[in-house]
Amino acid sequence: MKFGGTSVADTDKIRNVARRMVATHETGRPTVGVVSAMGETTDTLAALAAEVSPRPHPREMDMLLSTGERITAALCAMAIEDMGHRAVSLTGSQAGIVTDTRHTNAKIVDIRPKRITEALDAGMIVLVAGFQGVSTAYDVTTLGRGASDLTAVALAAALGGDCEIYTDVEGVYTADPRIVPDARKLARVSPLEMLEMAGSGARVLQLRSVEFARNHGVPIHVRSTFSGTEGTWIREDPSMEDAIISGITHTVDEAYVTLTDVPDKPGTAAGIFNAVAAAGINVDTIIQNAVTHGDADVTFSIPRDDLPLMTDTIEGLCRVLGLHWGVDDTAGKISMIGAGMKSHPGVAARMFQTLADHGINVRMIATSPIKVSCVIARDKVDEAVLALHDAFQVELELAQSGAAHA
Ligand code: ADP
Ligand code: ASP
Ligand code: MG
Repeated sequence: MKFGGTSVADTDKIRNVARRMVATHETGRPTVGVVSAMGETTDTLAALAAEVSPRPHPREMDMLLSTGERITAALCAMAIEDMGHRAVSLTGSQAGIVTDTRHTNAKIVDIRPKRITEALDAGMIVLVAGFQGVSTAYDVTTLGRGASDLTAVALAAALGGDCEIYTDVEGVYTADPRIVPDARKLARVSPLEMLEMAGSGARVLQLRSVEFARNHGVPIHVRSTFSGTEGTWIREDPSMEDAIISGITHTVDEAYVTLTDVPDKPGTAAGIFNAVAAAGINVDTIIQNAVTHGDADVTFSIPRDDLPLMTDTIEGLCRVLGLHWGVDDTAGKISMIGAGMKSHPGVAARMFQTLADHGINVRMIATSPIKVSCVIARDKVDEAVLALHDAFQVELELAQSGAAHA
């Protein structure tokens, strides 16, 4: 059972979470809770770091950020003890989450949940501080923003359990319910669709947690901390037909870097993206235009947070390769996702038409077999999501009910 930041934002909410865990435990199921830092704690800690250093040392950043979830885990264990049940809180390291040494964005390399299973066998409820582990060099690491979801999925895989993600909405919706008031809760989303949704901005599940769940066959149930309603299941269901459109996602957290005068010869793209990868920057969409006069333009998206890192990397690269570069930090991206898109032509055309009808200019287009994405002006993103949700109402209703398509 994983509880996000809003679900544990104050001590009343922590007691509520403790009650939910106790109730599950009382049904006879061994129960492990993974908790996030209270409310905006992680942001507050990061802001503190920024006050003392413009580029905080990554190792120290992890020491700092990992404290947020430890507070919640300890408080939650105390609350459970107070309810007459036995509980123990563990750090990521104590829980046996071993990672590589990439501070602030470490990857899990092994899970040794011995202490968890021992505590469960002793009848205790186990609280694990989310989003952290211990590196192969014995330092505290964190797994990237939003990664308490990953802790939960990884532990479910290692312990052989279900994974319940408790959050501040009732499940995965056809669009962000904060932007589209009549967005619909989906009963089921296939792991592949969820991967595309998470990768294109549906914050409700962290991308890497979905990848991990898909690779290890862990079913995820996304549901509300504040109600008992059934949420959304992320799992394969071969008996169901694919929905044409399952969701509309958006992100305003990307910047778009364009390189011009890129020499049209083998090895250039490799040189550029090797350098970007070596800096630890996650590139998403990459578009290279057709070469006309011997040089090409290449545009790609990066997280806005990585812009300072990008500047260092790219300036060296431009000097060496004789390129020029610019950044567009005024754009956002909207995407339509649906596994049934593969066999239903015309989704992209209707998407472009809808945007055109609203006078919204498309700056870039990228597609996968089950996704169409458009980069547009950042201040038009909300309007575009609402317009698309409206235009594809019929398809989204079918997706919600899980009905088969003609
Ligand atoms: P937690 O703190 O529990 O991890 P997050 O803030 O990370 O919660 O994720 C939940 C939020 O994700 C919701 O409050 C909602 O605004 C946002 N969200 C974005 N897209 C979707 C979607 N398609 N379905 C549900 N929630 C979404
Ligand atoms: N507290 C961390 C964050 O805000 C991890 C998480 O909540 O999943 O990113
Ligand atoms: Mg989250």
